[in-house]
Amino acid sequence: METILKLDGEGGSLALLGEKNDDDKWTYFIECQESAMPDILDEEDQDLLPLPHKKEIVGTDLRLALEKLGRHWRHLRPIEVHPDFGWSVYKQVLESPPIHLLHWKRVCLGNNPLYRLAEWISLSNFTVVLSGAGMSTESGLPDFRSKDGWWRRLDPHQVSNLDTLEDNYELFRDFYMYRIETVERHAPHLGHRILAKWEKKGRIHGIATQNVDGYHAAAGSEKVAELHGNIRSIRCHRCGRGAAVSDFLSKRNCSACQGRLRPNVVLFGEMLPEKAWNQAMQWFRSAELVIVIGTSLQVAPASQLPQLTSGRTVYMNMEIPDRLYRFDLAIQGKAQNLLAELDEMLESCLL
Ligand SMILES: [Zn+2]
Repeated sequence: METILKLDGEGGSLALLGEKNDDDKWTYFIECQESAMPDILDEEDQDLLPLPHKKEIVGTDLRLALEKLGRHWRHLRPIEVHPDFGWSVYKQVLESPPIHLLHWKRVCLGNNPLYRLAEWISLSNFTVVLSGAGMSTESGLPDFRSKDGWWRRLDPHQVSNLDTLEDNYELFRDFYMYRIETVERHAPHLGHRILAKWEKKGRIHGIATQNVDGYHAAAGSEKVAELHGNIRSIRCHRCGRGAAVSDFLSKRNCSACQGRLRPNVVLFGEMLPEKAWNQAMQWFRSAELVIVIGTSLQVAPASQLPQLTSGRTVYMNMEIPDRLYRFDLAIQGKAQNLLAELDEMLESCLL
């Protein structure tokens, strides 16, 4: 049982408690400490009672749970808010602002890293994003660098390299056909769309991505540097001539020279595309704020980009590495959840 919100008045205290099940779903309870609550309410409000004097279950909907507290909670002073609930609670408080609004804001958002980031985004004149596999896996794509994502139990290093392209083309082609079909079966998620919206609103100024799925552009982002290429862009490995993705999926060869077709992705042992890399370096050098989303920063040289900035740096990922240097802020969570909450904060005009 965890405390979601604890309120204090002259006569007693009121708490909203929560219990999380294995699926991360919360069930809420209200606990009213003995006696005194009615003392601090005027007669009219007392009609809204009874509040439970013991712990009482109020269901799984946070909004309803807060409403169950009735009008009382806005009269009281918050003394504790669960860090994961600061924004949700504050949002609801704002719908009919209480007397001690500033106090509520301090308790709900004072230590909220997302709120701090929202403030930084609104203050920054040049914000850039580095995105990695975490963004793609939330669309349902397997992470080919993780063991779970291994195709036919093969380490991607064994397939995504020049030797396999040259000596074992069928295996190479099967692997990339499978991956292209996977990308085509899935789609960008809310997080991609929020980043695209932020670009249009001038909140971010460029995205460098290690992902090859093209989802940032598909969601509407225009300033994208695809550091590892794009899997749905095809060229001839011999003469470099472009080809349609349908040619590759139909196992055709280059129409000009009969050479082998391949995706425009960076294979192990190949250089990064110069134009995308230079663009990214320019962005990160100019950045006042760098937001890294969904990458463990293990693949060089992309992992070095955040170090180019003299501005603030923020790291967001499902897992925060033990040794994470040079970041001003680290926020753990699913990319689309974090971006959605940030977007709400930015849209709320509270900053
Ligand atoms: Zn060719």
